Amino acid sequence: MQLKMYAYKCTCCGELHHPKHYACRKCGARSFEEIDLEGEATVVTYTKVYNLPEGYMKPYLSFGIVKFDNGLTVSGQIEAENLKTGMKVKTSVGVIKEGVGKDYYGFIFRPVDE
Ligand SMILES: [Zn+2]
Repeated sequence: MQLKMYAYKCTCCGELHHPKHYACRKCGARSFEEIDLEGEATVVTYTKVYNLPEGYMKPYLSFGIVKFDNGLTVSGQIEAENLKTGMKVKTSVGVIKEGVGKDYYGFIFRPVDE
């Protein structure tokens, strides 16, 4: 299964959104086109979360906000040994939480040079 990430571009003014909004935050239009969200992003901020709820098969996870070259900011998990702000990461989609009979997918960012 090939999973992709999308940004949602307002067909009226071109403003990018993620996740999808009901209406454009800039002009209020309700029509969007899907744009592939690929390539590199920069870590803006992050935190480590311990004491995770059931379904997370790891002792902790790093969660952060990254910014793409197109200006869009997106939140997701970051898997990096020496996580720092300003670090370049690449995007992927993977299992972020294992559930009973159902896995949950989300963004996972990893260092570019790994
Ligand atoms: Zn708009």
